[in-house]
Amino acid sequence: MTIPEPPPATLRLKIDREALAANWRALDRLSGSAAAGAAIKADAYGLGVAKVVPTLLDAGARQFFVAHWSEVAPVLAAGAAPEQLAVLHGVNTPADAAYAVATGVRPVINSLRQAALWREAGGGLCHLMIDTGMNRLGLPPSDIGDGAIAALDIDIILSHLASAEDDTDQSARQLVVFETARTGVKARRTSLANSAGIALGSGYHFDLTRPGLALYGGLPCEALAGELAQVAFPQAMVMQVRSVPTGGLVGYNATFRAPHPMRTATLSLGYADGILRCWAEGGALLHEGRVLKIIGRVSMDMIVVDCTDVPDLAEGDFCDLPYSLVAAAETTGLSQYELLTLLGDRFAR
Ligand SMILES: *Cc1c(COP(=O)(O)O)cnc(C)c1O
Repeated sequence: MTIPEPPPATLRLKIDREALAANWRALDRLSGSAAAGAAIKADAYGLGVAKVVPTLLDAGARQFFVAHWSEVAPVLAAGAAPEQLAVLHGVNTPADAAYAVATGVRPVINSLRQAALWREAGGGLCHLMIDTGMNRLGLPPSDIGDGAIAALDIDIILSHLASAEDDTDQSARQLVVFETARTGVKARRTSLANSAGIALGSGYHFDLTRPGLALYGGLPCEALAGELAQVAFPQAMVMQVRSVPTGGLVGYNATFRAPHPMRTATLSLGYADGILRCWAEGGALLHEGRVLKIIGRVSMDMIVVDCTDVPDLAEGDFCDLPYSLVAAAETTGLSQYELLTLLGDRFAR
């Protein structure tokens, strides 16, 4: 049998494509003579590559970064050319290297072992990540002189800043290590800055910047305030409105007891959608700008709000979850990165 199309979702994630394009253009301009690329790993930080990639291509982005090989196919299907796409985790197995060769997508080589795997698979143009002091993933500068690196055909030599959003001298120290390291390597392009790194100035821009968070409306540092607009707007439907008498208990483990007769609404979103239990402490949704405080525990698929003072709120209405990332991070204690990448796939994007 053919399965009919599902009905419209009760959980929506509106993506403001204009804001996304404007954010990329702002970051490209702030990158000076460098071009801005785009970090689109984790399904474009949870917003969906199917929408994000075509929007960024239209805006002018020409270099994209994902983390896993499993992320490649949806990005190519969304219109990116294989040579425009880099896989940050590089080649960890011969199968990774074979897939890179088969697709034409370029691996970021992170170690001598990865360099060997890439060469054994036939090699070709790749990128090279230098670890300049984060001690996470990337070639230690002491390995740069190895013959396996000299044998690579390198498009982009890159490194990643650990604390670009912080007032610290770590970025300057990483820059010095990177400058030294790259003199020992032949590469076509050079790249260092993530979103916050763009705000550190032209010394960090090189040929290509790699914003992620800021594209999607996150604000990593005050220097970028005023340049970026919110992109993701979650909305959930009211499934039921009910009356709760004084003393009535709401939700799992009865953590909320009605102090007076209340009107409550049950919404179609929960922690399985990435709206974790930390939202219940001080979190609220909005309906036409009016505040609907979350009461009781967040369930897997549901959240209950107080709509006593919003008497016209009705079953079938959609409510907005305020997702301005700085404020939402303050409310929840989650990072802006976590807030974006947590958004689950039950949201219709
Ligand atoms: C995720 C990532 C970025 C983007 O970082 P943001 O802080 O989101 O701008 C850039 N470069 C690398 C290597 C990354 O892993």
